[in-house]
Amino acid sequence: TTRRPVTVIGLGPMGQAMAGAFLDRGHPVTVWNRTPARADGLVARGAVRAESVRDAVTASELVVLSVIDYDAMYATLGGLDHDAFAGRVLVNLSSDTPDKARAGAAWAAARGAAHLTGGVLTPPSGIGSADSATYYSGPKEVFDAHRTALEALTTADYRGEDPGLAALLYQLNMVMFWTSLTSYWQAVALAGAHGLTAGDILPLATRALDLTQFLEFYTPRVDAGDHSGAVDRLSMGLASARHVLDTVRDAGVDGTLPAAVVDLFRRGVEAGHAADSCSSLVEVLSKS
Ligand code: NDP
Repeated sequence: TTRRPVTVIGLGPMGQAMAGAFLDRGHPVTVWNRTPARADGLVARGAVRAESVRDAVTASELVVLSVIDYDAMYATLGGLDHDAFAGRVLVNLSSDTPDKARAGAAWAAARGAAHLTGGVLTPPSGIGSADSATYYSGPKEVFDAHRTALEALTTADYRGEDPGLAALLYQLNMVMFWTSLTSYWQAVALAGAHGLTAGDILPLATRALDLTQFLEFYTPRVDAGDHSGAVDRLSMGLASARHVLDTVRDAGVDGTLPAAVVDLFRRGVEAGHAADSCSSLVEVLSKS
């Protein structure tokens, strides 16, 4: 069977992996990037380098965008005449807020193009694998028409019509990802100040970042509004968070992140939650 043509605009690590995955599946692939040299490796593998961004958009009905954010989409496509967009499907796999995704969908619609929002849940190494997943939202019939092609990239997880939804679900992942990963950088810096390497603490770090038992404990309680502090009082949490901050500072390591945790816990205690569960921080955060 003949694979449909695909255009990939934006050739950072993600866009390069995506264009490569489409090539691997036998799609004719047209590529464009602000810095043209980033297309060289893909051209050597059979991709067509568009001479202009307009040529890139008009080369395929399916146009995948992988740029740093939605402003970069406007910087890239904003100068094109509306005819270039008519009948195109813009699949925006760039990260941004739900509001930006909704505005992007309206912007595309005003130009006669359909817009699918995607939130990609894998680094470049996972592109091309069905074990990886991407959230999609936008018009269902548009998604259905292009699902097979999009599954060259990852498993496609369609969540609903709201163009902001895939961005929201993606950001829910990222709010946990960035803080968790930064907590790991913090631990590596603290370990290093004491002569321990990242390798030395790998088993410890792996166990510490598996929060499954805590999520399973808290989820039904939070959903029931139960913040009773039988086993995890916030006063204990504040004292413990201060021990972390003191240990970090004693080692001469930057304490910005643990200081922010102490500040949050302290505000929870000051709001009257000392004897409540640490989950009462959800209420503190919700009122900010
Ligand atoms: P970047 O986020 O660094 O994006 C690089 C691409 O954006 C390049 O093509 C770059 O062009 C382009 N770009 C940036 N600013 C502009 C601009 N003003 N005008 C035109 N083009 C611009 O790299 P990634 O490939 O890693 O990420 C792409 C998207 O995927 C991001 O939104 C990211 O958050 C998301 N993502 C990334 C993951 C990862 O592990 N890397 C995982 C999941 C999602 P140029 O080459 O000319 O600089």
